[in-house]
Amino acid sequence: MVAIAALVLAMLAQSSCSLISKTVATGGEVPLKSTPPPKIPHLRVIVFALDGTPRDQFMALVRSGKAPNIARLLGDEEDNGLFEHGYADADALSMLPSSTVADWSATLTGEPPGRNGVTGDEWFEREHTRFFAPVPISVTDTGDLQKAITDGLIGDELRVPTLYQQLGVDSNVSLLWIYRGATLYTTVGPSSYAGLIADLIAGKLTGDSAEKSISGAVDLDSVNRLTAALEAHGIPNLQVVYFPGIDSFTHLSPDPMPSQLGYLETVTDKAVGEVLDEYRKLGALDDTYVMFVADHGQTPTLNDDTHALGADGDNTPFSVVHDAGFRVRKAKLTLADNEQDYQAVLAYEGFMAYVYLADRSTCAASGSRCDWKKPPRFEKDVMPVVRAFYKVNRSGRPIPRLKGTIDLIFARAPVPVGGNPLPFQIFDGHRLVPIQDYLQAHPRPDLLDLEQRMDWLATGPYDNRAGDILLMSKSGLGPLANRFYFAARPHYTWHGSADETDSRIPLVLAQVGGSGERMRKIVQANVGKPPYEKDFPAIVRAIIRDKSDDD
Ligand SMILES: [Zn+2]
Repeated sequence: MVAIAALVLAMLAQSSCSLISKTVATGGEVPLKSTPPPKIPHLRVIVFALDGTPRDQFMALVRSGKAPNIARLLGDEEDNGLFEHGYADADALSMLPSSTVADWSATLTGEPPGRNGVTGDEWFEREHTRFFAPVPISVTDTGDLQKAITDGLIGDELRVPTLYQQLGVDSNVSLLWIYRGATLYTTVGPSSYAGLIADLIAGKLTGDSAEKSISGAVDLDSVNRLTAALEAHGIPNLQVVYFPGIDSFTHLSPDPMPSQLGYLETVTDKAVGEVLDEYRKLGALDDTYVMFVADHGQTPTLNDDTHALGADGDNTPFSVVHDAGFRVRKAKLTLADNEQDYQAVLAYEGFMAYVYLADRSTCAASGSRCDWKKPPRFEKDVMPVVRAFYKVNRSGRPIPRLKGTIDLIFARAPVPVGGNPLPFQIFDGHRLVPIQDYLQAHPRPDLLDLEQRMDWLATGPYDNRAGDILLMSKSGLGPLANRFYFAARPHYTWHGSADETDSRIPLVLAQVGGSGERMRKIVQANVGKPPYEKDFPAIVRAIIRDKSDDD
């Protein structure tokens, strides 16, 4: 039980930021603590964090016969998802939005977005009038991405303890930007890592094979940095290994899902094997717990400007808000002084978008800044925009290309900052209806656990970070041509929705030489039904608690 007592641990050493910047300039390792916590003997957990890998793709990989390292670790499949040495839960779901930054934040803290403060790849904080884009989608500036990699931006924004802080054990993190409270952070140089994401944002197609792609180079190179750190400092109790390349490779592949499977076989399985080999070499592989988890899945999309609902030009969702009578914040990370008089902000999440509105009575005149600490007025600010989106979606007026692009429009009556938030409701063309009532009248079994997941996104101390209006575009259901996404550039896949393809993630626990039955028991005793990403830390805590009790 020692570990849980260490819940509130010291934050990163003050001096670490400049050190991280310096190290990231070359790639390598960054000590995050001056004194590492003592290691718990014989306790080793490796977490492979697979960005953008749907559950079904992971299971296809395991069963393909082309992933020898992962297959050997799990052993023979005895029953659906139950392996000789491991257990793969069939029901695990992402948080909403099914997007990278929000999902890893929930996974690595155990708290949903509305409670941990990080609600998406992009979001707006009205209290501080600051726009965040650690994964830029409506914007193209990668400044926040750099800050996430080098300066702990996500750790600074998370308002709850990270998994590393909760555990208080010796933890190493490879590449993942959530490293606050860990002992050591290893990374590759920015020319490859940030370059990878920049290429992704620019929609640059490499046309390379998986292993020769930048994505593959980043994932494989990160393992070299990680193993060098293991050799220098020994094996930590927890090693998190993040593979961002899986997601970027898939977004940019014309035949995305088969290409992704090929990538998992040739790059991911190889990289996993190299980590396990290093543990073996150091005499530490036996009894090691190994977990696989993803942030979200993927939904194939058409890679063209018709289906990418961008931010530039006069026929975008930004234009709808503008035409409803708002000065809209430009789609840029930072604005000039003379651009600060905006009355509305849009943040993009792929198949979702957030619209934040000001009380326009505080800033009617052009050039005057709004009081963003005040909530918008329901009838005078929120509903005109809700009706404008409903109308353009139904009729294509005044923007024909937006006709039939939106699936659901969510909104709610605003409350003052710090007040008791109301849950999002769905606009039915006349009024806002509670999600449960709407779904009773219009069943949508394709949207998994929608009410609960919307609640976790948008209720809690940071509920207003998911906007006053939330748009869900048409995504997984129906043909490719009927899928639209909120992003500046076209891609071959997107995610962010409540659909099965985006939402179902692998959640796998194995132990080298251990019993799959026991892995199933550990998982099932510590997660909800169905399991969510936010249940992940409870599994790791249980493993560590068991070990601490044993010793
Ligand atoms: Zn992701």
